[in-house]
Amino acid sequence: MQKKESIIKIIKKYGRSKSKYLLPCLLLQVVTALTSLLPIYFLWKIIRSILFSFPEFNSGLISRYILWAVFSQILSTFCAFTASILAHVMAFDVENGLREVSFSHILDLPLGYFQSRESGRLRKIIDDNAALTHSFIAHQFPDLVPGVLIPLIVLVSMFVVDFRFALILIFCLVLAMLALKSSFSSSGKKKMEQYQYALENINSEGVEYFRGIPVVKVFQQSVWSFNRFYKAIKDYEDYCLDYTISFRNPYILMNIALYLPYMLIAIACILFLPTAANPLALIVDAIFYILIAIIFNMSLMRLVKLATGMGNLNIALGKINEILENEALPVAENSQEKDMFPDKEASIHLDEVSFSYDGKRQVIKDLSYSFEFGKSYALVGKSGSGKTTLVNLIARFFDLDSGAIYIDGENIKRMSEEDIFDRINMVFQKQRLVKDSILENVRMYDLDKSEEEVKLALEKANALEFVESLEQGVHTGYGSEGTYFSAGEVQRIALARAFLKDSPILLLDEAMAFVDADNEAEILEAINKLKENKTTIMILHRLNSAESFDEIIMLEGGQIIGSGPHDLLIEECKEYKKLYEEYKKTVKWRVKNA
Ligand code: ADP
Repeated sequence: MQKKESIIKIIKKYGRSKSKYLLPCLLLQVVTALTSLLPIYFLWKIIRSILFSFPEFNSGLISRYILWAVFSQILSTFCAFTASILAHVMAFDVENGLREVSFSHILDLPLGYFQSRESGRLRKIIDDNAALTHSFIAHQFPDLVPGVLIPLIVLVSMFVVDFRFALILIFCLVLAMLALKSSFSSSGKKKMEQYQYALENINSEGVEYFRGIPVVKVFQQSVWSFNRFYKAIKDYEDYCLDYTISFRNPYILMNIALYLPYMLIAIACILFLPTAANPLALIVDAIFYILIAIIFNMSLMRLVKLATGMGNLNIALGKINEILENEALPVAENSQEKDMFPDKEASIHLDEVSFSYDGKRQVIKDLSYSFEFGKSYALVGKSGSGKTTLVNLIARFFDLDSGAIYIDGENIKRMSEEDIFDRINMVFQKQRLVKDSILENVRMYDLDKSEEEVKLALEKANALEFVESLEQGVHTGYGSEGTYFSAGEVQRIALARAFLKDSPILLLDEAMAFVDADNEAEILEAINKLKENKTTIMILHRLNSAESFDEIIMLEGGQIIGSGPHDLLIEECKEYKKLYEEYKKTVKWRVKNA
C-alpha cells in the first residue's frame, strides 16, 4: 500500500495547472472563517449597548454595529462562494488528472493483468473513485480551514469573557470528541471499508444478474439461482446494519454534546445570578455563550462531515493506488539472463520455462521447445493443461518464474512490448472491434494503409463479400451508432486485421464455439491462408484440422508429453491417440444427433 497523501498533495499532484488556485482558495477560507464570526461579535455588542444603557439608546453606535455585522456577513458569504468556485475548478482537474493518470497507467500494464480483472470493474473503480475525489474537493474542501479555525477562535474567545461558561462548553466539547473518537476508531474505519466494498460488490453482481437474465428465463430458474448476487445483497444488508448500529451510541452522545450547552449555560446563569457583581453583565455574557455555542456546534458538525469525507477519500484513493501500484514488466538492460539464444533456426525457443500464477502451483513446468521459422504448430491437450498460459507467456503477458523465452534468438525480457508485438500477431478467442468503421478497425495497426489494402485483407479473410453487401461497405460503422455483426463476421474482420499486420509469428486460439458451420468453414480457410510462411502456434480445440499442421504438441499438466506430425503422434503418444479418438466420437455423436 502506498502511504496516505494529504489532500493538499493530491491537489498539487493531479490538479495540474489549476493547482495554482490552491493558495487563493486557502486564503479565502481563512477570511471566510474570520468574517463569519464577526456578526456574532457585533450582535453581542449591540445587546450589551442596549441593555447597559437601557432605556437610553446610542442609535449611531448601534447602526454602526449593524452595518459592520451586515458587511462582514456579505464579505464572508462572498469569500465562501469564491473559495467554493475555485475548489470546483480544481476538483474537475483533479478528477480528470486521476482518470488520465490511471487510464494511461493501465495501458502500460502487461496483458496478463487484464486476465484476472474484469475491464468493466476496473473502469468503474477509476470512474467512481475519481468522482468521489471530485466531490470531496468541490464540496468539502472549502470547509477545511473554517472547520478547524472557527472552533479554535471560539475556544480562545470563551476564556476572554467568562471562564465559567467556557468550562461548560469545554465539557461538552470533550463529550463530542469522545463520540467522534469512537466513530472514527480503527474498527469504525474497518466497518466503513467493509461497507464500501459490499456496495461495490453489490453493484458488480447486479450487472452480472442483468447479464444473466436470458439464461434464467430460458432455463426457467428463479432469481435464487443467482447465489452470488443474493449473497452480495445479504452482505450489504449485514454491513449496513452493522455500520449503522456501530454509530448508535456515538450518535446519542454527539446529540447530547450538541444540545447540552444551551441548557447548562441557562442553569449556570440562574445559579450565578445571586452572587453576581453585575447581574446584567452576567445575563449578556450568558447570551454571548449561547450564540457562540450555536456557531461552535455548526463547526463541530462541519468537522464531523469533513472527517467522514476524509475517510471516504482515503478509501477512494487507496483503491486507485492499488491499480497504480501495479507496474509494467521491466525491459532488462544489462540483465543476468542469457540475452541471445545461439540457435538461429528457432523462431521461438522456450528454455526450461516454469510459471505459476500464484507463486505456488506451477502451471508450466520446466518446458523446453523450439518452434522453427515458417512452420505451423497445434497446441492440444485437455482443458487446464496450460495451452493458453503457454501462448500468453510467449507474448510476455507475464514474466516467468524461471527459464527464458527467445524470439528470433533474443530474450523477450530484453524486448519492449512494441518490439514483441511488432513480431507477433495474436488472434484471441474473443475478438473485439472498436466503435469505428470497418476500415479503421482493420487498419488500426497502421493507419497509412490504403482502402485498397484493407479490402485485399478483407478478401483474404473471406470477409469482403459480406462487407461489400453493406450499404456503406468498409465505411460502415460498428457498435451502438452503427451495425452489429455476428460472432463469425467479427472473427473474419479481426482476421483481416491480422492479414494486414502481417507479422512473422502468429499466435491463434481456434475459437469456433460461437460460430455457425458456414462461418467456421470460411474462418478455417482464412486461417490456413494466414498461417502461410509464418511461424504459427494455434491452440486447437477441435482436432479435425490437426493433420494440416506440421507439428502437434500435446500438453498435460504444463509439460509436453508428445510432439510430432499427427500420424506419428497417433502411433507414439497414447494420450494424443485417446484425445483424438474421443474427439472423433463426439463428432460422430453430433452428426447422429443433428
Ligand atoms: P488450457 O488453455 O489448456 O485450458 P490454461 O492455460 O487456461 O489451460 O490454464 C492452466 C491452469 O492455470 C489451469 O489450472 C487454470 O485454472 C490456471 N489458470 C489459468 N489462468 C489463470 C489465472 N489468470 N490465474 C490463476 N490461475 C489461472
